[in-house]
Amino acid sequence: MLVGKNASGGIALGRALVLSPQEPTIEEGRALDVDREVRRYRTALEKSKAEISRLHGSVLEKLGADKAQIFEAHLLMIEDPELTDAIENSIRGEHLLATKAVKTAGDQFVSLFQAMDDEYLRERALDVQDVTQRVLRNLQGIESVDLTALTEETVLVAHDITPSQMATLSPKVTGIVTEIGGKTSHTAIMARTLDLPAVVGVKNAAGTIRTGDVVVVDGDHGKIFLNPSDADLRAHEKQREDLALQKKSLRALVGLPSVTRDHRTVHLEANIASPLDLQSVLHNDADGIGLFRTEFIYMDRTAAPSEEEQFQIYRSVVEKLGSKPTVIRTLDVGGDKHLPYLNIPHEENPFLGLRAIRYCLKHPEVFKPQLRALLRASVFGDLWVMFPMISGVDEVLAAKAVLEECRRELTAEGKPFRADLRIGIMIEIPSAALLADVLAAHVDFFSIGTTDLIQYVCAVDRMNEAIHDLYDPFHPAVLRLIRNVIAAGERAGITVAMCGEMASNSKLTGVLLGFGLTHFSMAPASILKIRKKIREASFSEAKVAAERVLALGTGREIEKSLS
Ligand code: PEP
Ligand code: MG
Repeated sequence: MLVGKNASGGIALGRALVLSPQEPTIEEGRALDVDREVRRYRTALEKSKAEISRLHGSVLEKLGADKAQIFEAHLLMIEDPELTDAIENSIRGEHLLATKAVKTAGDQFVSLFQAMDDEYLRERALDVQDVTQRVLRNLQGIESVDLTALTEETVLVAHDITPSQMATLSPKVTGIVTEIGGKTSHTAIMARTLDLPAVVGVKNAAGTIRTGDVVVVDGDHGKIFLNPSDADLRAHEKQREDLALQKKSLRALVGLPSVTRDHRTVHLEANIASPLDLQSVLHNDADGIGLFRTEFIYMDRTAAPSEEEQFQIYRSVVEKLGSKPTVIRTLDVGGDKHLPYLNIPHEENPFLGLRAIRYCLKHPEVFKPQLRALLRASVFGDLWVMFPMISGVDEVLAAKAVLEECRRELTAEGKPFRADLRIGIMIEIPSAALLADVLAAHVDFFSIGTTDLIQYVCAVDRMNEAIHDLYDPFHPAVLRLIRNVIAAGERAGITVAMCGEMASNSKLTGVLLGFGLTHFSMAPASILKIRKKIREASFSEAKVAAERVLALGTGREIEKSLS
C-alpha cells in the first residue's frame, strides 16, 4: 500500500497509466545522409499532424470547440512553411541531425514570439514549444499519451499533472495519483472540482507503480492499493458501489432549499477554477458561485490573459448563472501558484511573500485589466468582486482606489458597468480576522478562506507533509477566530461566507451553522452532501452545540465530540 494526501474523495479502480516525464534527447553531430534526415523529419511531422488532428477531433467531441481551438493553432503552427523550411534548410545547409534541426528552429521561433509586443502573438510561443516537442518525441519514437482516447478505466499516475492535462482528461480516467502537491495544490483542487478521486504527494509513485498494474485509489483516506487480491478488489468495488448509491440518493435533494428544520435558510455555493466547471455547478444545484479562483485562467501560458479575453470569460460565467450571484476573486498568485511570466523573484517563504493582492497592488499593469474586465462583465449578471489575502484596512482602500480608477476610465470610454457592484474580501490572514469589525465598514461581504487561515493561525505550511497532523480545522483557536469573524460581519450587517475547505467538512456543518454562517462555498460535488446535513439540522440546537464546542481545549476533543 502507498500513502499520500487525501486530495479528492471517493474510490477509483482501474489499470495504471504512468506518465513518464521521458524527454527527447537532442542528437549532436553531423548529418552524413541529409536526404535520410529530411525523410526522418517528414515522417515525424506527418505522424505529429495525424496525432494533433485526432486530438482535435476527440476534444471537439467531448469538451467542445473552446478547448479544441488550441489544437487548430497547433496544426497551423506545425505546417507553417517558415518553420518547416527553417528545419529542412538547416539539415541540408548546416548538416544538422533532425532532432537538432527541429530543436534549433523551434527555439528560434519561441524567442521570436516571446519578444513580440502583441500579447496574443507572445502566447503563441507556447504552441511552438508544444508542437516541436511533439515532433521531437516522434523522431525518437517516444509515444505520447493521448489522454482523451483511453479505452479502459484508468488511474493516471504522474509526477504532477498540468492544469491543461486535467482539462483534457478522458472520462475513462477514474482516479489520479501524483508524487507532488498537497491537498490544496492545483491538481487537488481540480480533481475535487471534477469529482475524481485523487491522492497526491505519494513519494516515488511513478517509480513504484507500473503501467498496467491494477490500482485502487482511496481518495478519502489517501491510500493506494496495488494489484490487490480478488477479495480486496471485491471489497473496494463494493465500497465504490455504496458510495455511488449514496451519491444517487443525494440527487433527491436537487431543487430542494438548503433550509434547517427550524427554517433557517443558508446558501450553498460552488468554488470553480474555470468556466468548464459550470456544468458541475449546475448539475449539483449550487445556489451560486462563492469563489471563482481566477488565477487558473492565468496558468499554462506565457503572458497574462488580456482584458478582452478575461471579459469574455467572466461574462460567459455570470450569464450562465443568471440571477444567482457569482463571486469572482482577483488574481491570487504566489504561494504555491507560480506564473513564470510575472517574474516574482525567488522567495524563502512564498506563502508569506509577494502574493495575491500584495502583488496586484504593486503591478497595476496586471491588476487593472482584470478589474476593468470584471467591471465590464458586471452588467451581464450578479457579479461580486473579491480581493484575496487582505491583511488590513490600507490594502482594502488601495484596492478600492484602483477599482475606482478603472471605473473612471470606463466612464470616459463610454463602457458600461454596474454601479452597485458588491465588493468583498477574503478573511484568511489572522490580522484581518482580528480586525473584522473594522474591515466590515469598508466592504459588502467577507469570505473566510480557512485553508490559508489555518496555516497562518497555527503556523503550519499547508503544503508541508511532515507537519500535516498539526494542520487542524478543529483547532479551538481557528474555531474561535471564525466565530468572531462571523459575529463581526453579522453586527455590521454584511454577508459572511466561507469558501475554504472547512465549508465542505460535514463534521463541522453544525458548528458553522451555529456560529451564524449563512453562505458556504465548496467544490460542486460536496454541495448535496452539505445540503443533507443542513436539512437535518436545527439552527437553535446548532447554536447551543457550537457554544459547547468552544469550551473544549483541543482540536482532538472537538473532533471527537462532533463525530
Ligand atoms: C483559502 O485559503 O481557504 C481559499 C479559499 O483560498 P485558496 O485555497 O485559493 O488559497
Ligand atoms: Mg487562500
